[in-house]
Order: sequence, then C-alpha cells, then structure tokens
Amino acid sequence: MSAELARREARFSQEREAFALRFRCAACAHVISETGACSMGYPNRLLRGPVIGVQPDGLPVTCKYFELGELEHEDP
Ligand code: SF4
Repeated sequence: MSAELARREARFSQEREAFALRFRCAACAHVISETGACSMGYPNRLLRGPVIGVQPDGLPVTCKYFELGELEHEDP
C-alpha cells in the first residue's frame, strides 16, 4: 500500500468511527442474514470481512445500492 493510500485509509477509519458510518452489507437492508450474500446478487467481497475504505486503485469501497436496514447483522 502506498503512503498516500495508507493516509487515506487512516483518515477514513477515523471518520468512520467518529461519525459511526454505516456503509457495509452488515447494516444494509439487502443482505441475506443467513449467508451474508447480497439479495440483489451484487459481489460484496469488499463490503464484508476486514474493513477497507479505499481500494488499491484509490476508489472508495462503497455500494450505490446500500440502504440502511432496520437491523445490523454481525460483520464477519
Ligand atoms: S446492496 Fe450493496 S451494501 Fe447492500 S447487501 Fe448488496 S452489496 Fe451489500
């Protein structure tokens, strides 16, 4: 990871905690709680497991179909 990506990742981590951001499948209305898969079939490898805010190519890890659910599931 480049120094710039590391800096951006660290800043995103601080802001994620400070603002209690929810953007991952665990908090999304479209996740299948039993499997962790997306009910709409979207690949969600980066939105489960270790929290990553910035992809190696510099793009943010996000999902344009994220919709805050009523429940928050365990985030493996
Ligand atoms: S819509 Fe996006 S955030 Fe929601 S479960 Fe599917 S992949 Fe995850």
